[in-house]
Amino acid sequence: MNKGWKTLAWVAGGVLAAAIWSTAAPTQAWAAETAALYVDGERSELQARSIGGTAYVSLETVAALGGAVKADRDGKTYTVSAGRKEVRFTVGEKQRFVDGVPVTGDETAELADAKVFVPAAWMTGTLGLKVVKDRFTDSIYIFKQKNDGTTLPSSLPSGATASTQEVVAAPGATPAGETPTGPTQGGPPSDASSQQPTIQTIALEGDALHIAATANVTPSVFVLKSPDRVVVDVPNATVVRDANGKASGSVAVDANHPYVAGIRYSLFATEPSTVRIVVDLKRPKPYSLKPAPNGAVLHFTQAEPVKVVIDAGHGGNDPGAISASGKYEKDITLPVALKVMQRLEAEKLIQTVMIRENDAYLSPAQRAAAANAAGADLFVSIHANTASSPAVKGTETYYWREDSLAFAQRIHASLVQTIGSADRKVKQERFVVVRETSMPSVLLELGFITNADDEAKLYNEEMQNRIADAIVASIKAHFNIP
Ligand SMILES: [Zn+2]
Repeated sequence: MNKGWKTLAWVAGGVLAAAIWSTAAPTQAWAAETAALYVDGERSELQARSIGGTAYVSLETVAALGGAVKADRDGKTYTVSAGRKEVRFTVGEKQRFVDGVPVTGDETAELADAKVFVPAAWMTGTLGLKVVKDRFTDSIYIFKQKNDGTTLPSSLPSGATASTQEVVAAPGATPAGETPTGPTQGGPPSDASSQQPTIQTIALEGDALHIAATANVTPSVFVLKSPDRVVVDVPNATVVRDANGKASGSVAVDANHPYVAGIRYSLFATEPSTVRIVVDLKRPKPYSLKPAPNGAVLHFTQAEPVKVVIDAGHGGNDPGAISASGKYEKDITLPVALKVMQRLEAEKLIQTVMIRENDAYLSPAQRAAAANAAGADLFVSIHANTASSPAVKGTETYYWREDSLAFAQRIHASLVQTIGSADRKVKQERFVVVRETSMPSVLLELGFITNADDEAKLYNEEMQNRIADAIVASIKAHFNIP
């Protein structure tokens, strides 16, 4: 397959709505901006700046982190030392001396707000610090040496805003520490890295994120919560730079996409060169990563939230059964339904459809039609029973089609145990709401309110809560939702 993005099949197919590198974005102003600084995961009041997209720390910060700072008489040349390691530099000059060895890079120490700021990466070798810059928030993370090589921090400050939780290293912030003979900091990719696969295109097409590179890649994927994100790391790869020379940016996503809020990418680390792609989600969404020639495809496929209809029986002018002491069935069905609704609201994988949330009446046919129109996956109708004999008590569960039986048996067993009345079994009956609905459907007769024992239980709010718990647990179990 031709690797030029314009000729990729999924582009030629005309289905690609988004997915162009954001080269049209205005160039970021590289002013010296105050940056949030975190030291070993704690928010620090020490001073940090983002200058030209690079993390800088003040000499006060360097001193606070354990560096001995000495100034020459010229007031521009400084030596920072820790143990036997030192770096000596002059404000505004590209050459510095690391342990006495001259090193030349693109970045220089800068004056800002009448203070001297040095590239934080310069301190990695001298003070044994790991510096990570979050490009998305301009936050700077400094970790005192943990001897873990290139491993990026696994825990991030709890006080950090959610969007700071992916840390993306600035190209110059070499997590493993600098070496005097190493590549220049923040410069263009070295010859070695240019031979690595280069990611040329990241494109969202419906439920699939296509990653196209110049050679085979071996990405890994994981999820982050609060907010929900899927992160794809592509090690030993680099990413094509945009018109402004930046190895980071965003991919256009249709604002109406059902679950993808945005896609960002960046050169995340330099040793090894790793590209990180972050898919911001509007809600949790399972995925699978499939290798592809010269790339990979991240499929968002299964586990759409299931749609569950809760039907509070009767309502309005239809009170339902009249209890032993003259109460209405509808005064059980609605409270229980609302308690179920309340609980289901906490379930991200369940979308609840209420037939009614107040004292309204709908015919059984209208209820079934509403469930069908909603494309529901499950229908639960809540009722309480009546009998001419006050001695009759117990719980019954009705279904009609075979596809409803398994759920009927599950929820029935749970309700019999919860309510603790007689087990009057699962029964097949042509009630409209279980017959005319097109999804697995049950009608619950929780108990007989014409029986004094059942009546006392079913109008008791604590019992109603337990019944709601049982209904929700059965629904979750039915869909295998943890
Ligand atoms: Zn009823």
